[in-house]
Amino acid sequence: MPRPLKDLRWDNSFARLPETFYQRVGPTPLPNLSLVAFNPDAAALLDLDPADGARPDFLAALNGDLVIPGSQPLATIYAGHQFGVWVPELGDGRAILLGEVIGRQHQRWDVQLKGGGPTRFSRMGDGRAVLRSTIREYLAGEAMHGLGIPTTRALAIVGSDAPVYREQAETAALLVRLAPTHVRFGSFELFASRGMTDAVTQLADYVIDMHFAHLLTLAAPARYAAWYREVIDRTARLMAAWTATGFAHGVMNTDNMSILGLTLDYGPYGWMDAYDRGFIPNHSDASGRYAFDQQPQVGLWNCARLGEALHSLVSEDDAVAALASYRATFELEMDRLMRAKLGLATAEPTDGALVAELLGVLHDGRVDYTRFFRSLSRYATNNAIALHAQVADADRLNGWLARYDQRLLREGSIDASRHERMLRANPKFVLRNWLAQEAIADAETGNYERIEKLRVLLKTPFDEHPDDDRYAAKPPEWAQEIAVSCSS
Ligand code: AMP
Ligand code: MG
Repeated sequence: MPRPLKDLRWDNSFARLPETFYQRVGPTPLPNLSLVAFNPDAAALLDLDPADGARPDFLAALNGDLVIPGSQPLATIYAGHQFGVWVPELGDGRAILLGEVIGRQHQRWDVQLKGGGPTRFSRMGDGRAVLRSTIREYLAGEAMHGLGIPTTRALAIVGSDAPVYREQAETAALLVRLAPTHVRFGSFELFASRGMTDAVTQLADYVIDMHFAHLLTLAAPARYAAWYREVIDRTARLMAAWTATGFAHGVMNTDNMSILGLTLDYGPYGWMDAYDRGFIPNHSDASGRYAFDQQPQVGLWNCARLGEALHSLVSEDDAVAALASYRATFELEMDRLMRAKLGLATAEPTDGALVAELLGVLHDGRVDYTRFFRSLSRYATNNAIALHAQVADADRLNGWLARYDQRLLREGSIDASRHERMLRANPKFVLRNWLAQEAIADAETGNYERIEKLRVLLKTPFDEHPDDDRYAAKPPEWAQEIAVSCSS
C-alpha cells in the first residue's frame, strides 16, 4: 500500500557503521518551500504515495521541520582525486542521507537530500544547491534511466526563495536523490590514505553484504578480488554506455565514481549535439582532462586509484589482473553497443573499422550524433536522402554507405526488422543542453511545466512522440552561448 513519506519503511544500515564513516546531521530548514517537481516513477520504487508530494508534510519532512521516525540522517565522509589532484578530505558537504527506505520489492533505496545545508564537510561551501543545478540533475538521471544506463534516480525537487550566491544571486533548492547506495571510490580512498585498513575492510564488507551478496559464497581474499573485478567491469561497461549515447560526465573525479557503477553526481555534463570526439562539456575543464574521448581511460585510471585504496584486501597481482581486464570489457561492450546502433545482427572482424569510419565522417562534418543515428535507423539502400541532408561531404557518406550496404547484404539484413531493432537502439530524444536550459529558464519564472514535460518524454526516448519533434531538434542559435561549469 502506498504511504506518505514519513510512514515509509525507513531504516539506515549505513548509520549502523561506526561514526568514523559519517557525521550525524540533519537538514537545515529552508524558508518558503514549494514543490518544483515530483517523479511518480521514483515514488513507486519507494512505495510512496504519489499524492504525498502535494502534502505539506512531504515538504516538512524533507526540510527537517518534521522528524521522520527511523530515518537517522547523516553526511558521509570521503576523499578523492579531483582533476588528478589528491584531496585528503571531501565528504558530503551539502548532501544529507536521510536514511534508507525499504521499497516495494524489499530493495533498499538511499534517500539523499542534495542541498540540505552545511555539514562538517562543507569546507568553504554553503551546503546548498541552486534551482538550476537540481533541475539539471533531476532530468539527467531520469533521461539516463530512460536510455537504460545505470544511474542514480531523482524523486523530487523542492524550491525555496532563500538566496544562494554563485556567480550571481540565485535561489536554493533541494534535490531528493535515490540510489541503492551513494558509496564512492573516494569513500575507500579516505580510510586507506589514513592507514585505517580496518575501516576499509568494514566498508568493503558493508558494500558487499548489501549490494554484491552473490559474492558472499566466496571466502576472503578471493571475495574481495572478485568484488574489485566486478566494480571494474561495471565501470568499463558504464564508460561504453556513455560513449555510445554521446554523453560526457564532465567531472569524473574519484569522489564522483559510484562503487555500483552508476552515473553519479550530474554537474557540468552534456549529451553531444554535433559529434566531436574532443567534446568538453565542463566550461571549467580547460585542459580537457574529462573530454568525451578521455572518459574510458579516466575510468581505468580511477579504478587503479580504487585498487590502491584496497591494497589491504586485494593483492597486487589480483589488482593488476583485474585492471588488465578493463580494456577488453570496455571494447566488447562498445562493439556490442555500436553493432546495435548500426543494426548488425552478426559480428564480423571488420565491424570496428566500419564504425570508426562512420565516426570519422560524423566528427569531421560535426554531424548531430543523435539525429544521424535516428535517421540511419530508417535507411534503405535506395534511400539516403535523410542522411545526405545531415552530412555535407556527400562522397564520403556515399563511400561509407556502400560499405554498409555490403555489410548488410552479407548478413542478409531485412530492412523492416533492422529498422525496428535500430529504433530501439538509437534514441530520438536525449537531454540536450538547450532543452535543460529552456526548462531552467521557465522554472526561474515560476513555471515548472517543462520539467515535467521533459521527464515524461525522456522516459521513453526511443518512442516517436510525433507531436514533440521540436525536442529532437538541433540546438537553436541562442544555445551556442550556454556554458556549464562546476558552479552548482
Ligand atoms: P561536486 O563537484 O558537486 O561533486 O562536489 C565536490 C565536493 O564539494 C563534495 O565534497 C561536495 O559535497 C562539495 N560541495 C560542492 N558544492 C558545495 C556547497 N555549495 N557547499 C558545501 N559543499 C559543497
Ligand atoms: Mg560529487
